[in-house]
Amino acid sequence: MAETLLDHKSVQFEFAKKSFLSFIEGKDYLLPYLKPEKTPLLLMDLEGIKGRYIELKYHFPNFNVYYAVKANDHERIIRALAELGAGFEVASTEELNKVLSVGVSPNRIISSNPVKPPEFIEYAYKKGVDRFAVDSFTEVDKVSASASRAKVYVRIVVPNEGSDWPLSKKFGVDLDTALDILEYAREKRLIPYGITFHVGSQCNNFRNWFIGIKTAAELWEKAKQRGLRLQMLNIGGGIPVRYSYEALSIEDIAYYVKGLLQKFFPILPYELQMEPGRGIVGDQGIMVCRVIGKAKRGEDLWLYIDTGVFNGLAEALGGIRYAFYLDREGELKEWTIGGVSCDSMDVVARNVALPEPEVGDFLYILSAGAYTTVYAAPFNGFPTPEVVFP
Ligand SMILES: *Cc1c(COP(=O)(O)O)cnc(C)c1O
Repeated sequence: MAETLLDHKSVQFEFAKKSFLSFIEGKDYLLPYLKPEKTPLLLMDLEGIKGRYIELKYHFPNFNVYYAVKANDHERIIRALAELGAGFEVASTEELNKVLSVGVSPNRIISSNPVKPPEFIEYAYKKGVDRFAVDSFTEVDKVSASASRAKVYVRIVVPNEGSDWPLSKKFGVDLDTALDILEYAREKRLIPYGITFHVGSQCNNFRNWFIGIKTAAELWEKAKQRGLRLQMLNIGGGIPVRYSYEALSIEDIAYYVKGLLQKFFPILPYELQMEPGRGIVGDQGIMVCRVIGKAKRGEDLWLYIDTGVFNGLAEALGGIRYAFYLDREGELKEWTIGGVSCDSMDVVARNVALPEPEVGDFLYILSAGAYTTVYAAPFNGFPTPEVVFP
């Protein structure tokens, strides 16, 4: 009986292997980079990124898609998405300059960070960006001080349960406060423009979109009763990608969101926006690194690799469970994966099923396209991953 049960180690390893093989399938141009001389290396598939954007546009035809630049701000990505007509969501002068430098018009750029440096608001408005998120009276004051006729959209709070990278309580207000903020914006002669929410990053829970859209609809109606004519609904980011477990598909989320809009917004807002980051780039990159050591500590088997939480894999600290693959046969064992630095916090994953590698073997970390290199620092003198787009 026992031997007919599926062993969880092989389930895990086969899942990672399947992800790896599907990433390279039919893409011979990626193959030369799988055994690079120098590691760590982030191998990005630009065709795949375009494919994800097109898939989003296909399933969300009524939405304008603003790519959240912070997920991966590489110029090649910005350029490729710009050519496809994408919009961009930026939070800093640096991000804004990157987007403008590839020729994107400021009317395709929004800024949804609800608390922005005053200099940024001023700079962005001068450059022609005129749509800003707010979630406090203070922010309305700041926007009105340097962007006098800007359009503001208010961020409401929604639960982040079921998101693997929840946004805590850092941003967002309840419905009544949101209403007051929109009214205050009107008093300040700004244009009360719309509503936004964020379901939490890597959101695998349909319910968060349900609460977001339902609350937004209630706020929309109340705003109307107060004579505020809103134009825009922004459903944020949060579209998940596959890590060591499956993720909701774009198609399924779109189907669900469309149903919610039909139910709660009999008259659709003039503009519908979304601002995915991870969902566009996350599963379109793999981190190629090398095994640099092995050890047995007590009962635990440790593997050490030449990258870590400080130079690319920061999200491992916050709950993202990457999938790992290496090209060997043999009995599967469970490993703890240690990062390259001397810091004891630098542990990339635990309970990872892999065949035993040798020092020097390549290890592939799947779905490493979002929130990796953008977080990376050369801590302890170890290099940040080189990024390649074959
Ligand atoms: C980070 C961020 C996003 C993108 O989130 P993902 O989960 O990567 O899709 C969207 N909107 C805002 C305001 C953000 O801060």
